[in-house]
Amino acid sequence: MEQILNYIDGQLLPATSGETLDVFDPSTGKVYAKAPSSNEKDVEIAINAAEKAFPDWSNRSLEERSRYLMSIANKIEEQLEFLAQAESKDNGKPFKLAKRVDIPRASSNFRFFANAITQYASESHEMHDLALNYTLRKPLGVITAISPWNLPLYLFSWKIAPALASGNCVVAKPSEVTPFTAYLLSKICIEVGLPKGVLNILHGFGENVGAPLTKHKTIKAISFTGSTRVGAEIAKTAAPLFKKLSLEMGGKNPNIIFADCDYEQMLKTTIHSSFANQGQICLCGSRIFVERPIYEKFKADFLLKAKKLSVGHPSHDDSKIGAIVSKPHYEKILRYIELAKEEGGTILTGGNAIFPKGYEGGWYIEPTIIEGLNYKCRVNQEEIFGPVVSITPFDTEEEVLKMANSTEYGLSATLWTENLSRGHRMANLIDAGIIWVNCWLIRDLRTPFGGVKNSGVGREGGFQVLDFFTEPKNVCIKYK
Ligand code: NAD
Repeated sequence: MEQILNYIDGQLLPATSGETLDVFDPSTGKVYAKAPSSNEKDVEIAINAAEKAFPDWSNRSLEERSRYLMSIANKIEEQLEFLAQAESKDNGKPFKLAKRVDIPRASSNFRFFANAITQYASESHEMHDLALNYTLRKPLGVITAISPWNLPLYLFSWKIAPALASGNCVVAKPSEVTPFTAYLLSKICIEVGLPKGVLNILHGFGENVGAPLTKHKTIKAISFTGSTRVGAEIAKTAAPLFKKLSLEMGGKNPNIIFADCDYEQMLKTTIHSSFANQGQICLCGSRIFVERPIYEKFKADFLLKAKKLSVGHPSHDDSKIGAIVSKPHYEKILRYIELAKEEGGTILTGGNAIFPKGYEGGWYIEPTIIEGLNYKCRVNQEEIFGPVVSITPFDTEEEVLKMANSTEYGLSATLWTENLSRGHRMANLIDAGIIWVNCWLIRDLRTPFGGVKNSGVGREGGFQVLDFFTEPKNVCIKYK
């Protein structure tokens, strides 16, 4: 049994209460690790450690902070295979995916912000003949980063790296469902000699660790990625305490396919954008709208490809779809498939749990395609976050825009068309923070990342997240 520990003030420690929580291997449904079930007392100790570390860390030169981040990036890269195995076991995602995407991206996050901070300049505004203004960018102090289970180390590092780069100290909380690679990151920080207290990682449930963190007077900013429900709770807590907030929340993204698209490219990408990571990526396109002239052809080809996706143990080379992250989430997805039938949908393929030989206790669901649903029904409006998509034909741009923009979410959208004007026109009119035209999930880390409506508040990425993690201070000097 693996023993996961908190990382506080440079040390690996159990929860002060001694309590632990079970960590499951989704591929078997069995407990394989114990993590600390921390509480308010641990939060207090971690925040004190971070507060103590702040004066020294924030006074280090940019180059020095950057070097620490680079060392962490290098270590992650060196341990690629090991970390990918750990991520795959903890989350249920195919090992190949973790090795190709999750872990390299975690390393890139540290590398990117190690570089970005050395290029981050502040502004000056001259008032001719009168005065010069310059704006300092000061680190905030102690901040918290709270992350979900779907891309564990990838999203955890996406927050921690810019916060540390800009001189803050961090108390971070990974998801209790997937704590393992965050624990391994603690060990990497110890290996590279990161000064104690600069980064603290606490494990435990949202209500016992996340909630006290967001309420704590010392915490100056909250960077949260997770569900819209929890994001709303955090916003309610943080508002009267005047904390800076960045919320990256749920999505119900449209994938809009016009008849004039590059069909083969679209089909290949749509399989990924529908089912990658078992559909558990906030950017997956779960509502597929297809222009009527190619609807039947698309349906036949898409079904054929989806049926060929082999569902199996995440470590197997030929598994394209691994296990669903947890039992409650698996049950939620299956309930939505039932709801789709009640709402008048036809399951074209999939729709069932499956039990691969030797791993019958694991949580596996077939890639599922549904048609015949009204765009306003719950299955088309609520986030399912699993290997489940609906397909719907459309006739005009106006009609598909109405359907695409009908949800309370606005994270991302994908458009497929070879008509340049239409691409620009639609990109402009879709309510989403991120639009991909003729592609999906191409990520340039310099670009603003985040959603509109109930998908998000604020943007991460590039210099924008460095703006978030710093406080501007304007200095005005009068010319004599
Ligand atoms: P979740 O909201 O249940 O949990 C996210 C984190 O918040 C966890 O660490 C959890 O322990 C913590 N938490 C729970 N209650 C809390 C509270 N009261 N106060 C503070 N923290 C608390 O989300 P999840 O199920 O882990 O992740 C799936 C969700 O994340 C989906 O909705 C998905 O769309 C979203 N997501 C969004 C993005 C994005 O970039 N917009 C990226 C990935 C995932």
